[in-house]
Amino acid sequence: MSTTLLVAEHDGAQLNQSTARALTGLAPLGDVDIIVFAENGSAVCAEAAALAGVGQVLQVDSPDNSHQLAAVVAPQIAAIAAPYSVIAMPSTTFGKDLAPRAAALLGVHQVSDVMEAIDAKNFRRPIYAGNVIVHENVEAFDKVVLTMRTASFQAAVAGSDAAPIVPTETTADLPDHTRFVKLEAQASERPDLQGAAWVVAGGRGVGSEENFAVIYDLADKLGAGCGASRAAVDAGYCPNDMQVGQTGKIIAPDVYIALGISGAIQHITGIKDAGTIIAVNKDEEAPIFDVADIGIVGDLFDLAPRIGAALGK
Ligand SMILES: Cc1cc2nc3c(=O)[nH]c(=O)nc-3n(C[C@H](O)[C@H](O)[C@H](O)COP(=O)(O)OP(=O)(O)OC[C@H]3O[C@@H](n4cnc5c(N)ncnc54)[C@H](O)[C@@H]3O)c2cc1C
Repeated sequence: MSTTLLVAEHDGAQLNQSTARALTGLAPLGDVDIIVFAENGSAVCAEAAALAGVGQVLQVDSPDNSHQLAAVVAPQIAAIAAPYSVIAMPSTTFGKDLAPRAAALLGVHQVSDVMEAIDAKNFRRPIYAGNVIVHENVEAFDKVVLTMRTASFQAAVAGSDAAPIVPTETTADLPDHTRFVKLEAQASERPDLQGAAWVVAGGRGVGSEENFAVIYDLADKLGAGCGASRAAVDAGYCPNDMQVGQTGKIIAPDVYIALGISGAIQHITGIKDAGTIIAVNKDEEAPIFDVADIGIVGDLFDLAPRIGAALGK
């Protein structure tokens, strides 16, 4: 049995890639047990068990887990945590919601947004929008709860042998003060922003909601996901689930195309792990050009269709 437990993020049918990325980040700690809370988690557990570096998969099936509400899952984690010294989850909306509740119930320290697990007691993580990296030593504690900065790690791949799947029950008292009512999600044909290999993003320079069509058109030509700066979201040009950055999504696409985005540090922190950054800005002094691999000075409305024509091939 491992001493590291990773809570799987999934949609009931498939494992979210953030889990495989977090698993890679935890590799320096040795084999990792993965726990799957679901109504019927068999398919998700099989996927998790196939990943290299997994000790065993704990399958906690219950109707209570059909929507994996943080308020319901956290007491189950607390009830099962005794043998583990590290309890981790991806630093996604799911993990950020769940981790503080689990840490509070266990009465232990939480380390957020871990970009490097040196060993089970030493972790590195960014603060001040990535301007400073801190080293946290948690030797004073028996146990720690982590959220793993998934953009910092490649997804773990399949191993040679599948890990055992262990049906597991918890004895936790579950609260009834929080119930699932309904899920409202933006329906989109485009790739998910956090999983997309290519992302096209627009900033305040795009100028209006109508003008954002230029971003969507280019994304569709390239088969890319769509992102935005906070200024574009705040101005109402696009939905806030497109926001990239410190208070938005942290992403690591192979290619990131920024159109009309100045390159504020709070935006850059969300894309610093991207493979190639292409920036278009009409201001040659824009800070985005300091981090861009390819910078083009010019008008985005002129250049976006030309980039689509050149790269869409
Ligand atoms: C606590 C905190 C958290 C924050 N979190 C985030 C975050 O998560 N994400 C985020 O993005 N920001 C965040 N911000 C805001 C951030 O500081 C910037 O204000 C924001 O990123 C600016 O967005 P922008 O680059 O789109 O707008 P601007 O800074 O206004 O830049 C617009 C750019 O478009 C260019 N432009 C204009 N017209 C054209 C054209 N036709 N063609 C080409 N270029 C053109 C301009 O030259 C300019 O560089 C945060 C700020 C704070 C204080």
